[in-house]
Amino acid sequence: MKVLVTVKRVIDPYVKVRVKSDGSGVETANVKMTMNPFCEIAVEQAIRMKEAGVVSEIVAVSIGAQQCQETLRTALAMGADRGILVETGAEMQPLAVAKVLKAIVAKEQPKLVIVGKQAIDDDSNQTGQMLAALLGWPQAAFASGIVINGESADVTREIDGGLEKLTVKLPAVVTADLRLNEPRYVTLPNIMKAKKKPMETVKPEALGVDVAPRLKTLKMQEPARRGAGVKVADVKELVAKLKNEARVI
Ligand code: AMP
Repeated sequence: MKVLVTVKRVIDPYVKVRVKSDGSGVETANVKMTMNPFCEIAVEQAIRMKEAGVVSEIVAVSIGAQQCQETLRTALAMGADRGILVETGAEMQPLAVAKVLKAIVAKEQPKLVIVGKQAIDDDSNQTGQMLAALLGWPQAAFASGIVINGESADVTREIDGGLEKLTVKLPAVVTADLRLNEPRYVTLPNIMKAKKKPMETVKPEALGVDVAPRLKTLKMQEPARRGAGVKVADVKELVAKLKNEARVI
């Protein structure tokens, strides 16, 4: 069974994100970039399924600038077999990404697509759901467990207040949540091996996909700064401050 996994290049979650002075977006020049953490979980899941003998090939896809090749190389070093870069300088919103992925799915015919539940830069949490809708495939979002059972997948989903178990017929789209697994670290020998793995580059136009943005960012701004906290000597002082200054008790 072939699995397609998507890997987005995002600002490293440990880097302080700065808004551009003109409010048009966030600063990405000279900023450390990395694979979106939920995409790492998606890749890890596909690799575990391959190690268990359920999956025969893992194809990683990234859409964006040429530097997304680095993100794909990381996926290959983790254990994916092949990479596809859909190279574009356009701002890629979830609908455009889903349309591109639909075209890749048509070409690759995977039995399962695993995407991250959410990209930590735009926090959209839309791509997997849109892709399933465009393909007319079943979807299971926020997965914390996936078991392939012949022609279907049993998925445990993280929902408000608990877990939901459902079965989806394959082919299907699953989105990976935090507790699905703990991604492995890439080792130096595997980074070297990944350099020899195949990577293909295509343009959205060649796939016949219109990636024009449908949403316009009007303005971006940093959250208001919070004042510094104060240290209190004891519980008595804390209670007095809560009562008389904060007036919350
Ligand atoms: P989002 O809907 O933007 O929160 O993204 C959800 C998931 O869709 C991400 O975790 C990725 O797996 C996938 N995705 C979104 N944008 C891209 C992209 N430009 N390239 C590859 N995968 C993407």
